[in-house]
Amino acid sequence: MKLQNTLTGKTEEFVPMDTKNVKVYTCGPTVYGYQHIGNYTAYIYWDILVRVLKLNGYIVKRVMNLTDVGHLVSDEDEGEDKMEKGARLAGKSVWEVAEFFADDFLKNFAALNLVEPTKICKASDYIEEDLNIIRTLKLKGYTYPTSDGIYYDTAKFPTYADFAHLNLQQLKAGARVKFNQEKHNISDFALWKIIKQGEKHDMQWPTPQDLWASKAMGYPGWHIECATIIKTELGDTIDIHTGGIDHIPVHHTNEIAQSEAANGVRLANYWLHCNFITIDGQKISKSLGNIYTFDDLAQKGFSHLDFKMWVIQGHFTSERNFSFESLEAAQTRLKNWQNWAVLRHQKSALGKKKLVATDTAGILAALSNNLNSAAALSIVDGIISQNDSVPSAQFLKFLDDCFGLALLESTPDISAKQKALLKKREAARADRDFATSDTLRQELSEQGVEVLDTIHGQIWHYR
Ligand code: AMP
Ligand code: ZN
Repeated sequence: MKLQNTLTGKTEEFVPMDTKNVKVYTCGPTVYGYQHIGNYTAYIYWDILVRVLKLNGYIVKRVMNLTDVGHLVSDEDEGEDKMEKGARLAGKSVWEVAEFFADDFLKNFAALNLVEPTKICKASDYIEEDLNIIRTLKLKGYTYPTSDGIYYDTAKFPTYADFAHLNLQQLKAGARVKFNQEKHNISDFALWKIIKQGEKHDMQWPTPQDLWASKAMGYPGWHIECATIIKTELGDTIDIHTGGIDHIPVHHTNEIAQSEAANGVRLANYWLHCNFITIDGQKISKSLGNIYTFDDLAQKGFSHLDFKMWVIQGHFTSERNFSFESLEAAQTRLKNWQNWAVLRHQKSALGKKKLVATDTAGILAALSNNLNSAAALSIVDGIISQNDSVPSAQFLKFLDDCFGLALLESTPDISAKQKALLKKREAARADRDFATSDTLRQELSEQGVEVLDTIHGQIWHYR
């Protein structure tokens, strides 16, 4: 397998630490509001990653987090906690908001038919472990206190700028807002935030006395949460870490700084970052009114899997432009695959060639080449259009393993009653009773089954 690795800037052969077991970590969502379709593209790309790893024979242990505390409104570690703000706007507690939006996220995750991670971890369940890492960092001299928290001194980590090729001087000069003057360096970030007296915060924990001189409540910073969950659930070094390109300069740079300073070993051997989608050429944003959720897509007649097909037609490293026209094309493609998949139930379709073996190796090779799902999909299109073929259930199972488009599940056989209607229609046609035949076709159509007459007899597919 080849993967494009942000750490080296190269597309390179994937060599896991263990020949059989692969450890993967995926930065999950902050559960403070509905996620838009752009947010979900990452999970779709990483679903292909997990599937391809499995098809290559690896046992994948994959952990994903749900951020329910500490992700501040601005990347500069300033402002309100996104969760607290979300709760305030909704008039609910943070715990309620977190549960509601985590459920919503997981519901969409399942509807996209994404392979479930081995473990999904809520950040708020790892506070003790966060504090342990912060303690290690303190003992090693990487931390300092300010009036509002315990900060990481990025100047103490000499390779801080390397991962994202940061120019720290330029960063400092270009800082738009006056940065927290108590910070030693502009890139320093909070490991633990202290809650001021009288300030309201739903999620808060006592700050241990060895870390903070006075009695104070606090909560973890966003970056420490991922570092902690990785260490606790997967170990000090993992094979693959995934996220969005926006995570490179701050979130992942900080994850590396904390983990590698605390553990003394490399955090991840391969870093995969997916690019953004634009909508009609524009950034997804509230002010442009172009934030779409799956409910919006459903209202326009598109399913989760139509969107999944749209995403995997592209590559995770490319910026993609979303439009409803292109989504419609993806939907048509999926429909075409489904119409082909239902032929396996139909003897009359066997006028076509029964597909015995096909190019599974070619499809897997395309996917294994830096997750080139677009090339893999084209191979399947070729098989469908050129062979005039009927797929075997086994081949469809392979395609489902590759893409997770639920071909088998979405194309069950028609019912015995519907089969009886087809038989009746066949008899009517043999008697040249075209009026009855048309009525029966209409009846089936109303049940979502379209009938076509071919030289081999009737063929049906779902509407
Ligand atoms: P946000 O809730 O806006 O902070 O987004 C959460 C994550 O979703 C970001 O960190 C990005 O990695 C990803 N994301 C946001 N917008 C897009 C987009 N338009 N296309 C792809 N990914 C996105
Ligand atoms: Zn993360």
